[in-house]
Amino acid sequence: MSIWDSLRGHAEQQEMFRRSIQRRRLSQAYLFVGPPGIGKQQFARRLAQCLLCVNQGDDPLDACGDCPGCRPFLAGAHPDFLYVGCPEGKRELPIALLVGPEDRRGQEGLCHDLSLAPLPGSRKVAIVDDADTMNEASANSFLKTLEEPPDRAVIILIASNLDALLPTIRSRCQLVRFSPLSNEDVKALLLEQELAPSEEEAQFAAALSEGSLFVAQQLLEPELRSLRTLLYSQLGHQNFSGLSLSKQLCEGLTKISSDAPEQRRNGQWLIRFTIEFFRAVLWNMNHPGSTSGLAVGEAVAFSSRLAAQPNSQELIGGLIDRTVDASTHIDQNVPVPLSLDCLFDDLSRRLRSASPSR
Ligand SMILES: [Zn+2]
Repeated sequence: MSIWDSLRGHAEQQEMFRRSIQRRRLSQAYLFVGPPGIGKQQFARRLAQCLLCVNQGDDPLDACGDCPGCRPFLAGAHPDFLYVGCPEGKRELPIALLVGPEDRRGQEGLCHDLSLAPLPGSRKVAIVDDADTMNEASANSFLKTLEEPPDRAVIILIASNLDALLPTIRSRCQLVRFSPLSNEDVKALLLEQELAPSEEEAQFAAALSEGSLFVAQQLLEPELRSLRTLLYSQLGHQNFSGLSLSKQLCEGLTKISSDAPEQRRNGQWLIRFTIEFFRAVLWNMNHPGSTSGLAVGEAVAFSSRLAAQPNSQELIGGLIDRTVDASTHIDQNVPVPLSLDCLFDDLSRRLRSASPSR
């Protein structure tokens, strides 16, 4: 069993490091870049353990798990392993973590600790997580260490947003790009780590996650899920009051969003859920009886009600287009409540006028 077995995806990057170590071509500084929630930090930690293991077999990209390198590493107490990241609730990586607090500048922090000699036969491995949250002062203070890294040190920076890093930092690191996970991997991780309440929910969140476990977890937050349930039960009725639905959704959004960007993010999810609903309706119209990747019970009933009507596909296509427009409006900073009011009022009117006459 390898320590990499529990990491999903990123086989190419593993092979790249295996070759680099075999050829003694390891760089002193790497920059891991890719969307959040795809396992970059997990990868970096496994790599660090491999670099610190003193009892390796033939594979340089493995670690024994039980040697004077692995044991303290796994216990979180290896003196040659250093980690800093943006603390929870903060938006910036504190400069003190890099170069020490103001009264002890240069005497503490990651840069100082990196400059100390490693244990005999060992090397220093440092991870700077959330490197894209360093402000300019932090980045500049860290630059010196990157320019002249201590002997036998490997520094791994991790970032989601490459553009947020100073070019001087980027140019001193070897870039390693990480791709999103597959939907299957996200689903499997959600189930393995018991992050989803059911297989259906795991499937739904994975399909919308764009390969990020982080995004999938956001989608599974109970409050957002209950708004989705409300949304689908109303849309499924076909005869609903758009303004009343929008009002309820906006009240829910206010409760779960701490600031305007979060409200926009959550508002966009409601829009995405709406699009997925209509996509499921279309799927069911075209594949009656089969289950889509996004099985939405309400959509099945909805599509069978509508299927007999002429132009029902065009109607649903138009509803999807209208919903995409609302997403664009929110991106253009139209207030979320206004965008949702207009969207759901419009959708409800279009659906009512298309209802089969009884
Ligand atoms: Zn070991």
